Amino acid sequence: MSDSTSALRPGFLSRATTALTQWIDSDYCPDGADKMRAEPDRVDFVRVMPFVVLHLACFAVIWVGWSPVAVWTAVALYFIRMFAVTGIHHRYFSHKTYSTSRGGQFFLALWAATATQRGSLWWAYHHRHHHQHSDDPEDAHSPHVHGFLWSHIGWITSRRNFPTDYTKIKDLAKFPELVWLNRFDLCVPLVLALSLYGTGIALEHFAPGLGTTGGQMLVWGFFISTTFLFHGTACINSMAHLMGKRRFKTEDDSRNSFILTLITLGEGWHNNHHRYQSCTRNGFYWWEIDPTYYGLKMLSWTGLIWGLKPVPQSILDEGIHADHHASVAAAATARAASAQSSHDYATLRRVVPVATAMAVATATASSANLPKKADGPAIRKDLSEETHGLNTPPTTPPTAGPQAPAA
Ligand SMILES: [Zn+2]
Ligand SMILES: [Zn+2]
Repeated sequence: MSDSTSALRPGFLSRATTALTQWIDSDYCPDGADKMRAEPDRVDFVRVMPFVVLHLACFAVIWVGWSPVAVWTAVALYFIRMFAVTGIHHRYFSHKTYSTSRGGQFFLALWAATATQRGSLWWAYHHRHHHQHSDDPEDAHSPHVHGFLWSHIGWITSRRNFPTDYTKIKDLAKFPELVWLNRFDLCVPLVLALSLYGTGIALEHFAPGLGTTGGQMLVWGFFISTTFLFHGTACINSMAHLMGKRRFKTEDDSRNSFILTLITLGEGWHNNHHRYQSCTRNGFYWWEIDPTYYGLKMLSWTGLIWGLKPVPQSILDEGIHADHHASVAAAATARAASAQSSHDYATLRRVVPVATAMAVATATASSANLPKKADGPAIRKDLSEETHGLNTPPTTPPTAGPQAPAA
């Protein structure tokens, strides 16, 4: 054995032992979480084995086959859990854009944990960090700083990104039940996987005509659905800073994309969200569909949540003003392009797009209270907006229901 090998081995063994223990206990950091976070980016191959297995297990479909029940279970669980990621991990725990009771909060955390994207506190800590450092070198998953692959999947395999910094999410870390769920984040996904397998076994015995087996329910309902769910969510970290339009001149490169909105139930309006993070909806206008917001609105009718925060009128006006400027610029571009045409039929080609663009510009301008900010310098990260509400008392529930958490 060479000197270099014998020197590396103890370090490797201790890191592997730590990683194995962290499969069970996410907060296990023998050298201290601060030290781990200070390390350079490095893939922790032992720690990410469950994540690798999640992907590889999808290929088991070759052996278990498929049935309508199994496939529809996978589709349903994708959307039910995407709603949990966007409506709970993101719009509740990360930004506190609505209120709930302490019991309601625990129920939401359990629901979000089925997404198998670590605990709500880990998720919120990293997401708040992203807003504070979007697209600067500190941002753990900026495609502009680290490249597409790292922003999409690489960053979550890095050892330094595994610990949760509870000191940065004190408003959440004061609830021991949330810390417990965050620490043992494998428990809920394990229960979900076993329940799906058990359901499949039951169907096999009691409804054999469906052709559904325990293996199918496990592979389709858990492994395939969860893998798609991860990549759908990860698109926001990678694609939403690369693909789409920028309505607001934020300091980062966040974008609005209708396609990403369909995949993520409303998170595609990412440029809107980076402009103003404290409202419950990401689609700011009626024509920007936001299924997560519609779902949260319906949940509020049940009394489970309340105090959904609206988009301020000043932000809505600012967006209309920005759209107006974009329309005028499009009209000018169309006119310039048409002027270069020497064909006889160029008149129509010139008049129609210009007239249309001018009409749109005029219509949108007429409904806007034009603010002063849109043509100015890039909008700076407003951390007071981001954490708005985190240190203020929650709104009172509509009825004399359970006590709201002191958020
Ligand atoms: Zn956010
Ligand atoms: Zn972003």
